[in-house]
Amino acid sequence: MRDFTDDHSALALNTATLGHNLDGFGAGWSPEQVVDACAERGYGGIVFWAREIGERAVSIGERVRASGMEVTGLCRTPFLTGSQAGTDDAVRASIDMAAGLGTTVLTIVTGGTEPGTKGLLDSQKRLAERIAAFADYAADKSVNLAIEPLNPMFGGNRTCVMTVRDALNVCNMVGAGNVGIAVDVYHVWWDTALPESLQEAKGLVLGYHLCDWLEETSDMLLDRGMMGDGVADLKALRAAVEDTGYRGLCEVEIFSAENWWKRPPETVLDTIVERFRTVC
Ligand code: ZN
Repeated sequence: MRDFTDDHSALALNTATLGHNLDGFGAGWSPEQVVDACAERGYGGIVFWAREIGERAVSIGERVRASGMEVTGLCRTPFLTGSQAGTDDAVRASIDMAAGLGTTVLTIVTGGTEPGTKGLLDSQKRLAERIAAFADYAADKSVNLAIEPLNPMFGGNRTCVMTVRDALNVCNMVGAGNVGIAVDVYHVWWDTALPESLQEAKGLVLGYHLCDWLEETSDMLLDRGMMGDGVADLKALRAAVEDTGYRGLCEVEIFSAENWWKRPPETVLDTIVERFRTVC
């Protein structure tokens, strides 16, 4: 397992951590301000949300690389399944945006269960069909598609993939070389079968997302903890992820409306560096 004690070059910021993915939250920094603040602190990369990018994917990507970092990923495609599934054009536009940013990873939050179905298997089959339909388009632009399992409490309206095991099954159904899995601490920390699932996912992990699970979580979506403040076994989780061969950046993604989003971004960014080196 990599030693981050004296080296946080593998640290990336997901801008959701500064409240940037929801209206009315965060300090309102521009992408350029985020890039400069991360570069100053020695971060290795940044993950953006589509809403921050607009038409400026190419220039923002260039700015990140000129600052010595990489664009580690883009959040995310529209939902691919469920009653809120996005159009084909919207999915292709998210792939184009990832390519414009110069990132190789576009995250998929799948969307919920398909209208008229029960359970998950029909929805996962539909998900695999939709991902397969875009895999070549993404590959032509050097974009990999990372299926992110969500905590089962998001089942129904946001996801039909709740474990790495589920994501692996969908990857196998798709059978494309540029489709893999994003592993997020918030969504998988509870899964005691995770190490076994990951053993079968060698070479398929495309991203690792850091936060913590607070013992007394007050909001399912917006009360994620800073690493070290909760009950997730962060070192064991990273060991299992790295056992698959993953050597990419580790992105910090903390949705925290009542705590971290209310603090000055500089404080948040400094705290992340310290926690990354000590508890992750
Ligand atoms: Zn995530």
